[in-house]
Amino acid sequence: PAARAATTSGRRAAMFDSCRRDIHYLRLSVTDRCNLRCKYCMPNGIECVEHKDILSFEEIRQIAVCGARLGITKIRLTGGEPLARKGCPELIRMLKEIPGIEKIAMTTNGTLVRAILPELVEAGLDEINISLDTLDAGTFAAITGQDLLPEVLLAIDAALAAGLKVKVNAVSMPDTDWKRLITLAKDKPVDVRFIELMPIGEGRHSEGRSNEELLEEIRSEFPQLQADGSVHGAGPAVYYRIPGYQGSIGLISAMHGKFCSSCNRVRLTSTGFLKTCLCYEDGTDLREILRGECVRQEAVSKNQKLLDAMARTIYGKPAEHCFEQPDQITEAHGMSAIGG
Ligand code: SAM
Ligand code: SF4
Repeated sequence: PAARAATTSGRRAAMFDSCRRDIHYLRLSVTDRCNLRCKYCMPNGIECVEHKDILSFEEIRQIAVCGARLGITKIRLTGGEPLARKGCPELIRMLKEIPGIEKIAMTTNGTLVRAILPELVEAGLDEINISLDTLDAGTFAAITGQDLLPEVLLAIDAALAAGLKVKVNAVSMPDTDWKRLITLAKDKPVDVRFIELMPIGEGRHSEGRSNEELLEEIRSEFPQLQADGSVHGAGPAVYYRIPGYQGSIGLISAMHGKFCSSCNRVRLTSTGFLKTCLCYEDGTDLREILRGECVRQEAVSKNQKLLDAMARTIYGKPAEHCFEQPDQITEAHGMSAIGG
């Protein structure tokens, strides 16, 4: 019974896992493909997944409907590069129409945003996170393999002008020029967030930087740094403010500031695998259920099967990741394949 969503009249459904965490956030990978080749993510590209193996928008919708019945209120489109898949506005519209889904966000590398931005906004996109590791054009090209920094900067401005809430995410590496990056928060109402590198996929082979160390450096440069207790979203970032800056500085410290006890999310891969933690391969193949044989009168029970499988999977979400013991990590896929 604990694996069932509890609904109280007048309140949203809520799904608690076995650790009593309220799971209400679904990260949805719409494609594994990407137009960039970030060094710590997919420097050599990825194995191509055949189109027939990728969930259709209708299949994603069916899963999201069940998710909403179980208490999911926020969905983030990610990937791979979500905008490398055609039709994101249509998908956003379909998801936004689902009763219970309150917010649709997107995490993108920003290079394909501008052309499609009006359609994304019109479809109901609420928030956009743009990944950007540097403000130096040469370093950008060296990290991503493409000379597209100006386009990403224009995308940030366009998203702000369109009224979206914008966050900039940078993976925190020893050579990250954080001083220059945070000027974005000085000049624009965007939060600049530093994410500790996780030992997933290509990230296993690089040395990231601890956000504790970064915070010390920021403090020594800006002694007037203040903790920012205001709510910025549903995520694990810890925020700080520099007086006079329009945006805040966020630290997402999966490695040195484990936040598993407040984790509120699950992930769906582009091929329909519901994953409960980045670190482990655990989860359930929902595509198998969606596409499984069924006789006509079983149509209703297929939906119920999906709902039960999702509830069971979410309930069994692991208590915490094991990034500090790399030999225990069972996830073999890269960040781009698991909805990072
Ligand atoms: N292509 C989109 C983008 O870059 O924003 C969405 C997918 S990308 C996998 C999502 C985020 O994961 C990006 O901000 C990227 O920098 C980050 N990322 C990739 N590999 C990572 C790793 N090993 N550890 C931490 N963050 C990682
Ligand atoms: Fe593409 Fe995002 Fe991975 Fe960079 S981090 S290669 S933009 S999926």
